[in-house]
Amino acid sequence: MIFEMPTKIVVGAINEQAQLLKDLGTKACIVTGFSSSKKNGSLDDVIGALKSVDINYMVFDRIEENPKLETLEQAKDEALKEGCDFVIGIGGGSPLDAAKGIAIMIKNPHIGANNLVGNGKLDATPVVAVPTTAGTGSETTQYAILTDTKLGTKINFGQKVFPVIAFLDAKYMMDMPVDVTRSTALDAFSHLAESFLSLRSNMLSEIFVKEGLTLFRKCIPALLEGIFTKEDRENLLITSTLGGIAIAQTGTLIPHTMGYSMTYYKQIPHGIANIMFYREYLSSFKDKTKVNTIVELLGFKDLAELCNMIDKLVEVKISCTDDEIKKYTDYVFREKAKLANHPDHITEQDIYRIYRESIS
Ligand code: NAP
Ligand code: FE
Repeated sequence: MIFEMPTKIVVGAINEQAQLLKDLGTKACIVTGFSSSKKNGSLDDVIGALKSVDINYMVFDRIEENPKLETLEQAKDEALKEGCDFVIGIGGGSPLDAAKGIAIMIKNPHIGANNLVGNGKLDATPVVAVPTTAGTGSETTQYAILTDTKLGTKINFGQKVFPVIAFLDAKYMMDMPVDVTRSTALDAFSHLAESFLSLRSNMLSEIFVKEGLTLFRKCIPALLEGIFTKEDRENLLITSTLGGIAIAQTGTLIPHTMGYSMTYYKQIPHGIANIMFYREYLSSFKDKTKVNTIVELLGFKDLAELCNMIDKLVEVKISCTDDEIKKYTDYVFREKAKLANHPDHITEQDIYRIYRESIS
């Protein structure tokens, strides 16, 4: 059994720990989305921390949701021109994942949008992660999920880049809209659940899963009500980071692979794109021992009650043709490594059926 978590996790204000940034490099490429980091104060805080330890910086603030490989290449060109030697990602999973890809491209200037994915194990410059959503756990994973427009899907970049430091401060999340809070929280829950159900789950990853599910349980009333205290925000953030630590050991399972097409072709936000399959996916388990443990840890009496909670939090209204579902099924079925971690033998027809039954 191997448990790997090289990321230093700092809970609290970044300006109180600014000295941690000192040895990472001489100029930071700050990577962020279009506007949220300016509104919630995270960008100003990071710039203030860098200034306090005399580190230069540039800002690339054009990372879109589900970042495209081409956008990373633009950031790389600007960062190299500016002489950046480390990367700070601020935002949701999209800028954090982008930061990891950009860190590889800066370290290896010959790597671009066309040859980043699956190009063996490439070195990266240091990456610092400042999450402003509580969902992906990207601050404590080695993964980056990027949009490959040539392949026509989202894909894990196949490299291993753990952030060196994750700065967790829930104050950036206080004004997050209810719908973003719910969908990202369900992403965090899905990481905990899929890590636990994976054949790669182990004694140590399960400690993080169980703590994460216990914390998530405390957040359910606020998620249902749509009103969040500072404590709720902190609990959701730690839940998300624990989910990241768990999937860093095990990876995710089939719902994540199924969800990539929902996001790419139907613009469904990532958290909803996974959780929309949970009723059918969890019901398909032949041995429900671990599914029932999840249900119990969340305080529900049965799986139906858990699924009803999900239905109250998110509504999915899409339609797909049969040909579309066949195309998505085909993509999932080609991801053999992901299928291998699912505890049951699963056929192409099973995946097709889960898609069909989940899309009304
Ligand atoms: P996101 O795509 O990063 O951001 C979604 C939206 O939320 C953006 O419009 C963003 O605005 C806004 N936003 C961010 N922080 C906010 C805040 N504090 N208040 C208000 N709005 C805020 O969303 P995400 O769900 O966090 O990340 C999804 C991505 O992460 C997907 O690409 C997914 O595949 C990936 N992912 C990665 C991992 C991993 O292990 N690496 C795991 C799961 C998912 P701005 O654009 O203005 O910033
Ligand atoms: Fe996810």
